[in-house]
Amino acid sequence: MTVRTALVIGGGVAGPVAAMALRRAGIDAAVYEAYPATADGVGGSLAIAPNGLAALRAVGAEDAVLAVSRPMPGMVMAIGRRRTAIPPLPGVPALRLLWRADLHRALHERAVSEGVPIEHGRRLVAVDETGSGVVARFADGTTAAADILVGADGVHSTVRSLIDPAAPGPRYTGLLGFESSAGLDVPEDDGTIVYSFGRRGFYLYRRHPGGGTEWGANLPQERPLTPAEARAVPAAEWLRVLAGVHAGDDPGAELIRTTSPDRLQVLGSLKIMPSLPHWHRGRMVLVGDAAHAPSNSSGQGASLAIESAVQLARCLRDLPGPGPAFEAYERLRRPRVERVAARASRINHAKAPGPVARLLMPVLMPLAMRTVMAPERAVGPEQRYVIDWDAPVAQTQP
Ligand SMILES: Cc1cc2nc3c(=O)[nH]c(=O)nc-3n(C[C@H](O)[C@H](O)[C@H](O)COP(=O)(O)OP(=O)(O)OC[C@H]3O[C@@H](n4cnc5c(N)ncnc54)[C@H](O)[C@@H]3O)c2cc1C
Repeated sequence: MTVRTALVIGGGVAGPVAAMALRRAGIDAAVYEAYPATADGVGGSLAIAPNGLAALRAVGAEDAVLAVSRPMPGMVMAIGRRRTAIPPLPGVPALRLLWRADLHRALHERAVSEGVPIEHGRRLVAVDETGSGVVARFADGTTAAADILVGADGVHSTVRSLIDPAAPGPRYTGLLGFESSAGLDVPEDDGTIVYSFGRRGFYLYRRHPGGGTEWGANLPQERPLTPAEARAVPAAEWLRVLAGVHAGDDPGAELIRTTSPDRLQVLGSLKIMPSLPHWHRGRMVLVGDAAHAPSNSSGQGASLAIESAVQLARCLRDLPGPGPAFEAYERLRRPRVERVAARASRINHAKAPGPVARLLMPVLMPLAMRTVMAPERAVGPEQRYVIDWDAPVAQTQP
């Protein structure tokens, strides 16, 4: 059965890319996003890795993302006062830093200009599968029909539980995310990001080209908080807690002291997806965080979401019908995303270390940076990955 039409649920990162890639594969795709509009100014920043850029190239969206991002050529790991430069991978372009809202807008505009309809205010609540297609039901009472349905609806995916009601949900990493900018000017080059393992918590920072310093922190916190709970705590109180955790950290303490509460963004409890038994069922399939959300420590969530969206389209282009295409897609993607998730989970242990690990970190980290965490070994296979859009996907047996 040839797939001609697709409903893509979710207009974040994976959704618009999946729709663009599907259209290039000859499949008419429309995106349905729950939120009434693109969320300007919220959600903090993120980095797109070279492999994410390469995948965007396959759908003609690389330039749109380059235009709203800046390069991050230098990286430094700091443990207390000890600093280790992380050498760039030879021949690989720099990571690109951008605001999440800008990424969403760039992908949205690109998709619309390619002819993808994007409808806002359409929250999927149920799916009926018929013999020949799917009917999506939205919270506003409307419906839409197509040959297949792609769940690009993020870490709290509805499509995931429609595919498998027993599917595990996202797991809390034990860390609460914050982002802000401080008045302090740190003595770093523009474009250098410093990953700093403080005495009791991880933070990162980079000089803002216009003055001041942008920073983010991962606060170890036993109990996950809902976004509403986290935001109900006054920003000044969160800054007080962060100041306690980073007391004695240089420049962490000073960054927090020179941050005004109205600039603090509470990103909320950081979640990951454990390995999912089923990525697809019948005519429904998952892409992006809905299937494989690695921790934010990987710096790869969005890039992997983009890759998966492109690979799904290639499989649907080349294989006969949703069943064989979804199986090939999962075989192509699962090992890669699980390797990235495993690396990120090792970093998370270092971000919230126990007392013994904290003592050993200054000795172990530099050693690890020369061995298991050496850039080529740790992130080379992630960042050097380029999808060959034109190469046909073979239907291999599991
Ligand atoms: C603090 C933090 C920092 C991060 N930093 C990085 C980084 O530096 N680099 C990186 O690559 N990744 C990073 N990530 C991860 C990255 O944000 C995600 O991997 C990426 O956004 C996944 O894209 P997605 O499209 O799968 O999901 P999302 O971007 O979450 O999009 C899902 C969309 O689906 C919509 N939706 C949900 N339910 C429904 C429904 N029922 N009906 C219709 N629509 C629905 C949502 O409103 C949303 O717009 C970070 C994440 C966090 C939390």
